[in-house]
Amino acid sequence: MQLTGEQLIGYRVIRGKGRELLAINPDDQQAISTPVFTCATADLVDQACVLAEQAFDPFRATDPETRAQFLEAIADGIVELGSTLTERAHIETGLPMARLEGERGRTAGQLRLFASVLRQGRWQTATLDSALPERQPLPRPDLRMCKIPLGPVAVFGASNFPLAFSVAGGDTASALAAGCPVVVKAHRAHLGTSELVGRVIQEASKRLELPEGTFSLVVGDGSDVGQQLVSHPAIKAVGFTGSRAGGLALMRTCAARPEPIPVYAEMSSINPVFLLPGALANQASAIATAFVDALVMGAGQFCTNPGVVLAVEGPDLDAFLARAAAHLAEKAAQTMLTPGIHSAYELGVRRISGEAGIEAVASGQAHSGATQAQGHLYQTTFASISANAGMLEEVFGPAAIVIRCQNVEQMLAFAHSIEGQLTATLHLENEDLTIAQGLVQAMEKKAGRVLINGFPTGVEVCDSMVHGGAFPATSDSRTTSVGSTAIERFLRPVCYQNFPDVLLPRALKHSNPLNIWRQVDGKTAAPCS
Ligand code: NAP
Repeated sequence: MQLTGEQLIGYRVIRGKGRELLAINPDDQQAISTPVFTCATADLVDQACVLAEQAFDPFRATDPETRAQFLEAIADGIVELGSTLTERAHIETGLPMARLEGERGRTAGQLRLFASVLRQGRWQTATLDSALPERQPLPRPDLRMCKIPLGPVAVFGASNFPLAFSVAGGDTASALAAGCPVVVKAHRAHLGTSELVGRVIQEASKRLELPEGTFSLVVGDGSDVGQQLVSHPAIKAVGFTGSRAGGLALMRTCAARPEPIPVYAEMSSINPVFLLPGALANQASAIATAFVDALVMGAGQFCTNPGVVLAVEGPDLDAFLARAAAHLAEKAAQTMLTPGIHSAYELGVRRISGEAGIEAVASGQAHSGATQAQGHLYQTTFASISANAGMLEEVFGPAAIVIRCQNVEQMLAFAHSIEGQLTATLHLENEDLTIAQGLVQAMEKKAGRVLINGFPTGVEVCDSMVHGGAFPATSDSRTTSVGSTAIERFLRPVCYQNFPDVLLPRALKHSNPLNIWRQVDGKTAAPCS
């Protein structure tokens, strides 16, 4: 597949009239000479959004089976791109080939998961309450509820998952599954990768004869294109993964629109890890090894990176720190995704190092490339953190702080005071269960996922996954951006009262023509097998 650097607007391929851009290889910071990308101007953003608006009714009217086939065709197309896709992603992001191959599998798997969700039909939440004409003192009308799509969705590709959280990532897959057309803003950090995947979606859409505006991909640099996109009246929801500043800016814009719309932004998280006394006494060395492996994985560029560890003072904590320091010292520096993310990491590390009460414990091997990140581990005390909560600001990369507590009550106080998180982890043994109960109660109010005896990096894509959490982990703690329930973000319920069968949505018709699970008069009704 030939890259051209153009915008994909519905079925069309159009050269933008905005600024020219070249993709950058973060390894040597050199521009990748082909192709030359051009940014969209406001008229192209408008065309993409208007086409999406026109596509909405015919696209939402498609059979769930047609949309399932669409998602599967995208998954097949991504896999068929083979090394063309992974090699381009590798030079644009510096991520190792093995990681990208795994991420490609995950991306295809996510798309196929949503295809199976569509076929199974529970996403429509079809609920029927039959009429009770004889009820006293008042009769009950026939009431039926199901969920319908919100409308066109703007998706911002994430820098750190060029496939799984980008053009055909979880936000796009869940929005398309719901029946929402999608306009993606390509991330500047992997422009060619975005075009390759965008062309697969465009081809699949054409082949299945879906409405033209079902999918568009626009390129922009700086906030203009993104702001125009989320301000467009055709757009009815936003999916975003990135910085807290970026997410907050989009939330503000969307709240200030004449018609405010929901923004599902995944932003910042430091993913606390609590080492309970029994676990620390029995497993300090093994936990330290696994912790450092998780910390430096992917140069720490995971939203679930464990950025803060808490434990009670004593020889067991010293043993943990000694092993973590020795293991970190063996870890090579790794190339970060972009020069910008690398400089933000360097700034963050300098900020932490300069804080009062912070002490360096160990570093990984020194970097040889200008955009490589060296791992860093620091320690401080609960008292210092309490006096300066700013120390806990996310540093995106392989840096973490160990907080030495005087007792478990301080760990609990920390759990109550920390802001919202994507994950919280407890390492424990049976003797720690009473302390664990208090920590779980505190952390389940903040985090989307609470883990025992593991590390949060590596997010399973499945029905029970919650990749969310209270602000600022996300802008809406009621939802997830990973797993099948991500579709909920782009749906809303409608109740149909006293409708004749002919006017009802198919999910609610008397004969259950979609053959889906429904709730009928308070009982679950299985489809016919
Ligand atoms: P970012 O700067 O927030 O950018 C993400 C996307 O949003 C880009 O397409 C960007 O456009 C757009 N954008 C940002 N601010 C905007 C605004 N005010 N208006 C409209 N669009 C806007 O994130 P990033 O480039 O991926 O990484 C930068 C930092 O984000 C990292 O250092 C890290 O701290 C954080 N991050 C967090 C996560 C996480 O999962 N929690 C993941 C990735 C990154 P342009 O690039 O064209 O400006």
